[in-house]
Amino acid sequence: MNSLIVQKQKYWEINSEDKVNFQILFTHSILSQFKFVENLSETNRVFLLIDENIWKIYKNQFETLINNSIKEFHIKKVKPDEENKTVDSSIEIIRFLDDKSLRRKSEPVIAIGGGVILDIASFAASIYRRGVPIIKIPTNLLAIVDACVGVKTGVNLGIKRNRIGTYYPPQKVLIDKSFLKTCPQRHITNGLGEIFKIALIKSSSLFKQLEAYTETVGIEEKLCIGALASKIINDSISLMLEELEPNLWEKNLQRCVDFGHSFSPYIELKNINELLHGEAVTLDCLFSTCLAFNLNFINKNKLLRIYRLANSLGLPIFHRDFTNKKLIEKSLNETKAHRNGNLNLPIPSDIGEYIFVNQLSDEIIDKTIDCYKLIKEEL
Ligand code: ADP
Ligand code: ZN
Repeated sequence: MNSLIVQKQKYWEINSEDKVNFQILFTHSILSQFKFVENLSETNRVFLLIDENIWKIYKNQFETLINNSIKEFHIKKVKPDEENKTVDSSIEIIRFLDDKSLRRKSEPVIAIGGGVILDIASFAASIYRRGVPIIKIPTNLLAIVDACVGVKTGVNLGIKRNRIGTYYPPQKVLIDKSFLKTCPQRHITNGLGEIFKIALIKSSSLFKQLEAYTETVGIEEKLCIGALASKIINDSISLMLEELEPNLWEKNLQRCVDFGHSFSPYIELKNINELLHGEAVTLDCLFSTCLAFNLNFINKNKLLRIYRLANSLGLPIFHRDFTNKKLIEKSLNETKAHRNGNLNLPIPSDIGEYIFVNQLSDEIIDKTIDCYKLIKEEL
């Protein structure tokens, strides 16, 4: 009934494969050995998109490397923060590149900053001239463990998070953890939110490392530049890639890395001045864990252990919007559309294990909200 009636004549079928290959590399004090980076541009021009705050903090180093270089630098400072993650910000970047007639293949755009800058810049790079190469240099923890891993680009559409975007592999990702020394503690904690997510859903070993991390008091660990933090960051990136690499284009919409991203996207942007991404993700993970508790996958001891870890990492453990049934239902509807009509809700079936839930009764949502309201008093 539904089949297309075609004329009996020649037809064309297009089959093509484009292999994805790029590296995520750790580097050391990248600003003092910027020659390597600037030489990734094959011409005498270097295009830098820099987070405004990174520019302010590292201005002297940037100026020194620009003054000592034989290359010509073109720099655009880009505003960070979620409210600037818009199509307009990407268009501004495109105008900047276009005014300078960026060469299409030999002059990669180099983006340096937090997740917002990397997302806006990579979206711009993916649509400008249908794609120009981009090199990403993440500077905060969230960008290191999340925004620079994988091939997604995205900007917000009003309060709809990452509603516009593309899949676009970067040319390279260069991680320099020494940037974390200047990163405000709240933004370190924010990155720990995404690490907490991947640990809880995928790795009891990483979960234990995070528990050990909360017991270390050294400033190095706090800034995520000590030995334990290094192992945590490495494991977190590896675990993310284990999931992303076989499903880069999200052909399969049943993804455990979506844990923490089911109820939160709507609530996060509704509270844009209050919640950071990793914080909203953590709140969603905890709500989903209450759900797992009510579905008898997680016992009370484990539920409390999970809450205690989030709490001692300095992450928020309660937000009133997760007790608002209308908001929860609205979020779930958005999520369902995003997952092509299926809920595909990843929830922990143990610490480091997961299952997907596709149906939620009214009664379970009520019980989960009650549990979420009360559990924090038992820590
Ligand atoms: P996110 O990375 O959480 O998606 P942003 O890109 O807006 O969001 O980054 C959050 C904040 O962290 C921004 O104010 C940004 O300027 C700041 N930031 C990023 N890296 C550093 C750093 N190394 N030192 C200081 N501040 C930083
Ligand atoms: Zn996320």
